[in-house]
Amino acid sequence: MNINRNIRVIFIGAPGTGKGTQSDLLAEKYKIPKISVGELLRKLVNNDISDNINLGDLISDSVVCNIVKMRLCKNDCDNGFILDGFPRSINQAQYLTINNIKINFVFNIKLPHKIIIKRLLGRRVHKSSGRIYHIKYNPPIVNNLDNITGEQLISRKDDNINVIKHRLKIHNKQITNIVNYYKQEVKLGNVNSYMEIDGDKPINLILTEIINKINYFI
Ligand code: AMP
Repeated sequence: MNINRNIRVIFIGAPGTGKGTQSDLLAEKYKIPKISVGELLRKLVNNDISDNINLGDLISDSVVCNIVKMRLCKNDCDNGFILDGFPRSINQAQYLTINNIKINFVFNIKLPHKIIIKRLLGRRVHKSSGRIYHIKYNPPIVNNLDNITGEQLISRKDDNINVIKHRLKIHNKQITNIVNYYKQEVKLGNVNSYMEIDGDKPINLILTEIINKINYFI
């Protein structure tokens, strides 16, 4: 077993496939940070960025890449990290490579659009922590309150049907290039594993699949 337990993970599934949920659980398991680019962007006080997010458009590669690079420089990433929602374009994927930001594991969670839409319409979020719930499939202990802080949960502005459809269209446009890129990276030996996961399974089963894959390599 390799004693360098540097676990560098990216999740490249569509919105609503469970990337955030799995990232939270993995972060807890391996004690490495989960870096959600969407969360980082939502915390910025910038009207243009908020407008773009609410419309479901992607933020420019240059802005997002800089945010990610700065975040990855922090010490807590020394033993690894989980990138949730990055890369979302081929330029972003190439940016990681060009900047020598090595990735070990790529997980692509897949789910039919019909199910994604149901999930996103029922999603509730704890704003300050980013903790994710679903009113039916993963409800909080007390209705509409965060399990840890007891604070109110919210529905994201971009989790409405028209914006969801737009986000899925954008994802479809970008994902083939990103997948092909990482399949090639695995062939070249730059990435340990690219794995597709059926997102329509219980949270814990998916988590076990992911952990098994990671543990095989570390
Ligand atoms: P998420 O929280 O991952 O669903 O992301 C919410 C929104 O943040 C997206 O719809 C985009 O507007 C923006 N965003 C998140 N990640 C990226 C990215 N890698 N590139 C561009 N925009 C992003």
